[in-house]
Amino acid sequence: MKHLTDIEIAQQNKIKHIKEIATKLGIEEDGIEMFGKYKAKLPLSLIDEEKIKNNNLILVTAITPTPAGEGKTTVSIGLTEGLNKIGNQATVVLREPSLGPVFGIKGGAAGGGYSQVIPMEDINLHFTGDFNAVEKANNLLSALIDNNLQSSCCKLNLDPRTILWKRVMDMNDRSLRNIVIGLGGTANGVPREDGFDITPASEVMAILCMANDFEDLKKRLGDIFIGFTYDKQPIFARDLKAENAMAILLKHAIRPNLVQTLEGNPAIIHGGPFANIAQGTNSIIATKMGLSLSNYVITEAGFGADLGAEKFLNIKCQSAGLSPKAVVLVATIRALRHHGGAKKDQYNTPSLDFVKQGFCNLEKHIENIRKFNIEPVVAINAFSNDSYEEIEFIIEKCEELGVQAVVSEGWAKGGKGTIKLAKAVVKVVESNKSSFKPLYDWNSPVKEKIEKIAKEIYGAAIVDFDKKAKLNLKRIERLGFSDFAICMAKTQKSFSDNEFLVGRPENFTVTVREIEIAAGAKFIIPILGSMMRMPGLPGTPASENMTIDNNGVISGLS
Ligand code: ADP
Ligand code: MG
Repeated sequence: MKHLTDIEIAQQNKIKHIKEIATKLGIEEDGIEMFGKYKAKLPLSLIDEEKIKNNNLILVTAITPTPAGEGKTTVSIGLTEGLNKIGNQATVVLREPSLGPVFGIKGGAAGGGYSQVIPMEDINLHFTGDFNAVEKANNLLSALIDNNLQSSCCKLNLDPRTILWKRVMDMNDRSLRNIVIGLGGTANGVPREDGFDITPASEVMAILCMANDFEDLKKRLGDIFIGFTYDKQPIFARDLKAENAMAILLKHAIRPNLVQTLEGNPAIIHGGPFANIAQGTNSIIATKMGLSLSNYVITEAGFGADLGAEKFLNIKCQSAGLSPKAVVLVATIRALRHHGGAKKDQYNTPSLDFVKQGFCNLEKHIENIRKFNIEPVVAINAFSNDSYEEIEFIIEKCEELGVQAVVSEGWAKGGKGTIKLAKAVVKVVESNKSSFKPLYDWNSPVKEKIEKIAKEIYGAAIVDFDKKAKLNLKRIERLGFSDFAICMAKTQKSFSDNEFLVGRPENFTVTVREIEIAAGAKFIIPILGSMMRMPGLPGTPASENMTIDNNGVISGLS
């Protein structure tokens, strides 16, 4: 049998009219706003706080990944199919893909194999325009800043050298990282250094995904911290009266998008903040929308659980008052081999020894989930080169820890391949064992919060603060931002801040180099390494293999 690519599988599928999907969620036909036949926007009036409390939120996260990704999106979609198959009403709620990775190395983010959301071409390319709206709102603020520097009236006395706000564009384009703007004489702006980040790195994206409604959105947009005046006074977006106009541009973007899985189950896809310098998970509004309309909501947080789950639970759940009933921890045999010492060319060769050595990584993630008082289920995302011995070893070791580990075959088989996983998740939910408690209180001192995450979740022995970070701490205190959540920015490749320390490193030091502020999103961002905000394209970009035929059919998208 010919091996089909993701896009071929997606295109072969008979797609349902979006009205049918809305009906599954109990929404009347004119209750959605259609974007063509297969996509719709959901009105915020469908959010129902009572239902949110009674329905079940399941977070899908992963062990420390290899660069290819261990399959969180794929497992999230597959599990949703499986839950529906065994008679539950389940919706998958995910982030929107960015165009950068689509044309770069990683490809799209609509799942894979027989666990995908469709229409995958649309979801991966522009979708309903939310990213464009975020980009425009972000760049409106940039234009207002530069206009204020230029204008002779209403000057804020802003020192251009202190401006932190950057322009954004949703493309991997490294040449825009550092630029000089305002050249060409007095009529053409005030020259200063600027640069572009990729759209998912915009604080507007982080804010859109933290906001509860328009009022909250406007307040948060106004709270964006821009820089200082020459006499060291902080300037915010509200000082430029920017927040209302920015919110107007987000009128449609604030509403979650409804699409479907390959098996015709509901999928809500909304917002896409970066996982490195932001929260890396879909909007709070979309999660609440899913929980208002569905008995089970399956959602994903970017990167491994030390970053994704930690931020999801401490930032998003604490802020929104959400309480997950179970966490699905995705593991692959490949990644466990890697953590056990396998080199890249050994990843796909069975080795019980490497898996035995690498199990410590999974074990630490299990311990971490339990620190939040939530029961984990381990999903072994099945690859064709996994051996029986390796899988049995994982299942037995997890059993010793009192955790059920289940092989998930959603990629190869869709919902048929995840029935066992779905049953294990329902069992954990119905056992009522989970009672979410956050790791830290937002009101604790900043240093204490950072140390708690680094020591308890990463396993660090010592947390060092560089000189710059210490100065940043003072600034945060002076500006009154100490009660914000912590949004850690660290490599996803290791529990530590050194990407080469695989497995379960111990007795290590992490170094906080600097601490940034996202005042509108209400988090502060300790930087534990160098963070990429505008990726570049690889030598052979994925775009070279894509095309569209005379009938408008796209191929080569992965
Ligand atoms: P994550 O969300 O963790 O980054 P994805 O679900 O996007 O991971 O998967 C990463 C890539 O791996 C995708 O291209 C997906 O199609 C592929 N993939 C996921 N699971 C499997 C599997 N079991 N077998 C083969 N490929 C898989
Ligand atoms: Mg993903």
